[in-house]
Amino acid sequence: MENVIIIGSGPAAHTAAVYAARAELQPLLFEGFMAGGVAPGGQLTTTTEVENYPGFPEGIEGPALMDLMRKQSTRFGTRIKTETIARADLSQRPFKVYTESGTEYQSKALIVATGATARTLDFPGVERLWQRGISACAVCDGALPVYRDKPLVVIGGGDSACEESLYLSKFGSEIHMLVRRDEMRASKIMQQRVYDHPKITVHWDTLAVEVLGDSVVSEVRVKNKKTQEETVITAGGLFFAIGHEPNTAFLENQLNTDETGYVLTSPDSTVTSIEGVFACGDVQDKHYRQAVTAAGSGCMAALEAERWLAEQE
Ligand code: FAD
Ligand code: NDP
Repeated sequence: MENVIIIGSGPAAHTAAVYAARAELQPLLFEGFMAGGVAPGGQLTTTTEVENYPGFPEGIEGPALMDLMRKQSTRFGTRIKTETIARADLSQRPFKVYTESGTEYQSKALIVATGATARTLDFPGVERLWQRGISACAVCDGALPVYRDKPLVVIGGGDSACEESLYLSKFGSEIHMLVRRDEMRASKIMQQRVYDHPKITVHWDTLAVEVLGDSVVSEVRVKNKKTQEETVITAGGLFFAIGHEPNTAFLENQLNTDETGYVLTSPDSTVTSIEGVFACGDVQDKHYRQAVTAAGSGCMAALEAERWLAEQE
């Protein structure tokens, strides 16, 4: 019987582990084995330079940052298993979780920190030029020198696409938003900000069909769905902003989520709809989605789990 099981391996999970371990809860952390298509360490293992995580004034490579977080977790006694949790039974306490190989583990408290996976598309050129001018996180990568003063393309028509286009307009010379329909899903206010912005052009009914470039992105070939006409946009960067998939399938709807699958937590807390289960990081945050906010909520989850366990005793 464990005190606390942490599921996940990004900044949220490892911060929760550091706090839980230092509180002598001997946490057991399941870091996943290519869970959601991402290596142990989470989304930051898919990126290069992280420049906005405090404490690293020169920046740090994403995988290196996650290695350091993992080391810090184990330094205080966190036990880590490189297995993916396939299923959980939250119907009664102790909670039960099952690995993909079917092994059952029981725990008094559970911290869900399984993150979210950015949706991307797989048209020609994407795989070859990934991270060479292609990104799924404008707020993370937009300020990098490679995107400065270049025309940039953003795919998507939701609030994220609007927000990211507005953000990128600070760095890029012009922003081209590719919207696949003749209207946007984004809120009216965000749409208006986009329409009012002199640097942003919206391309309606438009799909990206190919990204071109030798060593970095130089052009995006697009197609108008209505006319079938293909044109080429000169671009130094391509950003996907077509939504995220919170990694919650293994919970089989046992926790309350919003309509897009994000775990709902009480305001200013990581408390979920089931007492003793806490959720932190991107799996419960569709607004900020940053490493530092994930880490902050991981700290909250561990402190709340610790207090809740003390109350039970
Ligand atoms: P994640 O990092 O998503 O990690 C969760 C991990 O848990 C999963 O990846 C998987 O390994 C594991 N897992 C999932 N399901 C299971 C399961 N069932 N069982 C076991 N394990 C499981 N943020 C910044 O602040 N700065 C940046 O520069 C930055 N750059 C980014 C670049 C890219 C390309 C991307 C995609 C994101 C970037 N972000 C950046 C955002 C940042 O990575 C996320 O906000 C942060 O990683 C979220 O942390 P998390 O702990 O919630 O989850
Ligand atoms: P959404 O799911 O709201 O929007 C995704 C967008 O991507 C839609 O325009 C969708 O088009 C488009 N899309 C999906 N798949 C494809 C594809 N294969 N090819 C081209 N386009 C595609 O995701 P967001 O990340 O924008 O927002 C998620 C949630 O977070 C929302 O509730 C949003 O309101 C919220 N949010 C709020 C913010 C704010 O208020 N400032 C900022 C960011 C997010 P289609 O409409 O045709 O399906």
